[in-house]
Amino acid sequence: MKTAVIGFPRIGRDRELKFISEKYFRGEADEGCLEEVGRKLREYGLLKQKEEGVSFISSNDFSFYDNTLDTAVLFNVIPERYKALGLSELGTYFAMARGYQGDKGNVKALAMKKWFNTNYHYLVPEISDDTLIKLSGDKPVREYKEAKALGVETKVTLVGPFTLLKLAKYTGKKKAEDFKDALTGEYIKLIGLLGAEGAEWIEFDEPYLVKDLDETDIKLFEEIYRSILSAKNNVKILLETYFGDIRDVYEKVTELGFDGVGLDFIEGVRTAGLIEEKGFPDETILFAGVVNGKNIWRNDYKKTLNILNSLEKVKNIVISTSCSLLHVPYTLENESALSEDYKKHFAFAEEKLSELRELAALSELKSEEALSGHKEYTANRELFRGRINSEDKAVKDRVAAIKEEDYTRLPDFYAREKLQKDIFKLPAFPTTTIGSFPQTQDVRKNRLDYRKGNISKEEYIAFNKNKIKECIRLQEEIGLDVLVHGEFERNDMVEYFGQHLSGYLFTEKAWVQSYGTRCVKPPIIWGDISRKEPITVEWSKYANSCTDKYVKGMLTGPVTILNWSFPREDISIKESILQIALAIRDEVLDLEANGISIIQIDEAALREKLPLRRSDWYSEYLDFAIPAFRLVHSKVKPQTQIHTHMCYSEFTDIIPAIDAMDADVITFEASRSDLQILDSLKEQNFKTEVGPGVYDIHSPRVPSVEEIASSLRKMREKIDDAKLWVNPDCGLKTRGDKETKESLINLVEAAKRIRAEK
Ligand code: GLN
Ligand code: ZN
Repeated sequence: MKTAVIGFPRIGRDRELKFISEKYFRGEADEGCLEEVGRKLREYGLLKQKEEGVSFISSNDFSFYDNTLDTAVLFNVIPERYKALGLSELGTYFAMARGYQGDKGNVKALAMKKWFNTNYHYLVPEISDDTLIKLSGDKPVREYKEAKALGVETKVTLVGPFTLLKLAKYTGKKKAEDFKDALTGEYIKLIGLLGAEGAEWIEFDEPYLVKDLDETDIKLFEEIYRSILSAKNNVKILLETYFGDIRDVYEKVTELGFDGVGLDFIEGVRTAGLIEEKGFPDETILFAGVVNGKNIWRNDYKKTLNILNSLEKVKNIVISTSCSLLHVPYTLENESALSEDYKKHFAFAEEKLSELRELAALSELKSEEALSGHKEYTANRELFRGRINSEDKAVKDRVAAIKEEDYTRLPDFYAREKLQKDIFKLPAFPTTTIGSFPQTQDVRKNRLDYRKGNISKEEYIAFNKNKIKECIRLQEEIGLDVLVHGEFERNDMVEYFGQHLSGYLFTEKAWVQSYGTRCVKPPIIWGDISRKEPITVEWSKYANSCTDKYVKGMLTGPVTILNWSFPREDISIKESILQIALAIRDEVLDLEANGISIIQIDEAALREKLPLRRSDWYSEYLDFAIPAFRLVHSKVKPQTQIHTHMCYSEFTDIIPAIDAMDADVITFEASRSDLQILDSLKEQNFKTEVGPGVYDIHSPRVPSVEEIASSLRKMREKIDDAKLWVNPDCGLKTRGDKETKESLINLVEAAKRIRAEK
């Protein structure tokens, strides 16, 4: 059997792309250096896959920032305000990605959203009525030729036109349908160009097909691909789908006459059933996504071979990853601290290439007898039989003992709100930040030195305490109302907690791209989770002692901890979340007992794992995720104020669920998307107090006082004065000291201006 990979990581085994890009952004490296690193990274990925014998390798899966942005730019979907800057091609590209503030002008970045149900983010293409769609770049052609020159024949992967049109934001009257013909025509031109260079296969990634689709969507999809398939000439077209099954268009897809169709067997709960029930065309190759592109556990060969063997109705099968390997780290070879006993259970991107190879060989052997003569097979069987003991009975018992009333905080929100207003006596439009302050070089060095044993624990603590003191002083000087300690002890909001909880495993270099040049290093949930000892209490207590103002305790919530970890596959998500919720609850109560009266429990990633199909939202997720959050704070005193924070304001459609988290205050990202969310909050009588972010922290740009004040004025039209908080979009850890201070001074000034207008 042949094998295929949908996409390969591109940030670099040692995050080379991150480092060179950041140098380039700082003006310390030129375009040539950046291009050269990009070229090397592509070469590495291609040759690695070739070496492992992958039959279908992708080109054009590389990107300097994001593939959706690449595709938008490729077809000239570049809003006028970026063109008007008059920057170089690459400069314009990065202005769209990151915003631009300099001698050529001052523009914000495009909106950024989570890529389906992953922690990867794409930039939202923006189409206006006069957007002229035309093929105006050659990246896919260049990268195809470059691969070919290296001796690697590739399938060229493109974000498909249907997904691109569906993800785009339309700023005028025109809609996706109005751009269908133009865009399809330009894709066809591109197919022609690639065909002329000898490209045999083009892969159209259409993950949008796994969402709930209505008739208009299906018509749009069908019309696009009828045109493409009738104009493709000799080029073969692979329609690739992932992150779920394509139940709404399965029949359409199979009748359209694609040369290949990629289906996801990992997250696509109905994929096998659809094939069984409706058949699969003999002349189409099935790219069966059976190697999980999103998690890091070894593939269970027996299970996978069973799936493949059950596909009797399919003539031609290629074994594929379930999605791009972008969502897993590069390689276990980078992990020197993790023992073999653990490592043998994992497969990162490069190890998954070997899995593909082994599965391809094993799939030729049809009987269990033949298989058991194979050492790869028996070793894999052995692996799934035994695991180092990870069970913790006390944790299991504690979860089993949770009672219905443990999910409810008393008294109700309104009673608490009144009480808290009386006690805290904060000014109108209280100002605060989301938690972290700039993680400057010295902060990171301190952590690193401590980890490496270069400094003592006392030195490490003394440094951080000093930082906390300075941070508190800075916030007082700026005039913020509710302060934070700055999170200098944390590398990452999830990894930090993972490190202090039992049941977690850690990696050294298992970075996964989150957005642009940013990576995260998700910890691995290995066993049952519990809290060993207080985690944040000492830091928060110290910060509190430095000031008379309120300092928020700062925790990460159970849903986010789970969503940003690699989860277990042997117990349910619900069980895992409840274990974590109980551990974080212990911390909440300890903070409260130590005099911290405002506690923020971040659920940055709550929205992320919302099932892609609306019909599954509650039953498969919210029905246990929201109660798990309530479990964390249900036992605090009425006068303790619970905040939560969510990145991205895309919860318009789950507002009742967010309100049901029963926090006292929620802050969220708002400046980078439109303020539509506020209308919905108003319409749905959202009770929780809100702090919609007033400026974008993903960009180094400093917002002016008037800019912030005018956002606040808009917010006041929709939100009761008594419920409105003033804060940035998210934590400030990725920002520099200077822009942070300037921005926060403007934020406080804007709040004062608004108070005066009240
Ligand atoms: N408290 C965290 C911080 O400020 C929240 C980060 C996040 O939402 N991603 O860094
Ligand atoms: Zn955030």
